Amino acid sequence: MKLTILGTGCAWTKRECASYLLNDNIMIDPGYGSVKQLLKTNDQLLHHEKIETIDLVLITHFHSDHYFDMPYILQKEATGKLKNKKLTIIGPPGVKQKLDMLCQLAISKHSYDKIDMDKYCNIYEASDGKEIDFQNYHIKCVLLDHRDTVNYGYMIKLPNGKILSFTGDTTNCDNMMYMVNNSDIILLNMANTKKDRAHYNIIDGIELMKQYKGRCIIIPAHMTSESYDYAKTRINIPKDLMQLDLDKDVPYDFELKEKPILNVAQDIMLDEKRFAEFKLPHCILKLRETISSKGISLPAYCYDIYTTRHKLIGTISVSIGYNVESTYVGNILYTLNEEYLDKPILYESFIQMSKIAQSHNMDTLYISTSPKDKYAKNLCIQLGAKLKEMRYFSERNRIWYNLNDQERCIWTWKIGE
Ligand SMILES: [Zn+2]
Ligand SMILES: [Zn+2]
Repeated sequence: MKLTILGTGCAWTKRECASYLLNDNIMIDPGYGSVKQLLKTNDQLLHHEKIETIDLVLITHFHSDHYFDMPYILQKEATGKLKNKKLTIIGPPGVKQKLDMLCQLAISKHSYDKIDMDKYCNIYEASDGKEIDFQNYHIKCVLLDHRDTVNYGYMIKLPNGKILSFTGDTTNCDNMMYMVNNSDIILLNMANTKKDRAHYNIIDGIELMKQYKGRCIIIPAHMTSESYDYAKTRINIPKDLMQLDLDKDVPYDFELKEKPILNVAQDIMLDEKRFAEFKLPHCILKLRETISSKGISLPAYCYDIYTTRHKLIGTISVSIGYNVESTYVGNILYTLNEEYLDKPILYESFIQMSKIAQSHNMDTLYISTSPKDKYAKNLCIQLGAKLKEMRYFSERNRIWYNLNDQERCIWTWKIGE
């Protein structure tokens, strides 16, 4: 089971509208631009085939960012697959008339005339508490509060028993909390940074995520730019076209960044060929091995460092992603024969590691040094890293070190600036 987040934004954002594709056949809130996003999810399929795999559409409410691409879905369906199979549509009362009006406005008369919704579609109008079975899914409609607009949230019981929910747009209300309390995963609109009468907000949303940790995975949705900027320094934010594997226990960890940082590693493919060897001005790095993620350990590239005359003088590795490991031991580890410590070899090697990290979309690397190590300190300063904090290790977290260091300096290195 997979869920593709087609968009994390709403109207007025660079990111696309909050739409979703569940497996390959269920679309939730086909807002404007969502069909284009859908087409990006699988390049191998011809465009019309991709749309024709949709056989259920859920519409939360009639705002453009939630249903304006319906004419294109209906048009493709009407000329393609629907000759044999019906498209099921669930939406607020009046959904058929709304779609009819929209199709008249959006597409040619010739195409519009072909769309016979009575013939090609099964249309259900939502009401509060209404339950609908579709294939192996069981769907419950929940009336929410989007000020003057009727908005239905949908709770979908998946064949694996989990409940996946979509709020659409709602402010905080009893039914919204009912959905949070009774879902395993919920895409919850967190439009603004302030409380408003039509939407939920990111500040309360992050508090809710903390409160429900371990009980319900709350994924922020429908974020404005302010809301997104607020969230991105605090949580591991979903991105447009991100895919979640719903069969895993925790499909994606949206927990707070500081404790511990998300392990983004699980979906990362290391590229051994591309990063096999680097000839730098003062040394050569040869990939000795890659490590795949396991438990708390992040995936990593591990290099041997040679002089330009091919003498082995040390090792360096860069781990990809962030989690509790990167915050304790850092992303880059190295050993280097003492006589080379004051040479530019480490600097060059660190820069090379940062390029690898950047290619995996990382913008920050953590470096952990001993306060006694003046070479490491100078190196961090030379790289432009900033001292983030001193960490003191008690007996309990000493496992992070085989060294006797009880304190470490943790540096934050912004790469690519
Ligand atoms: Zn709305
Ligand atoms: Zn909206």
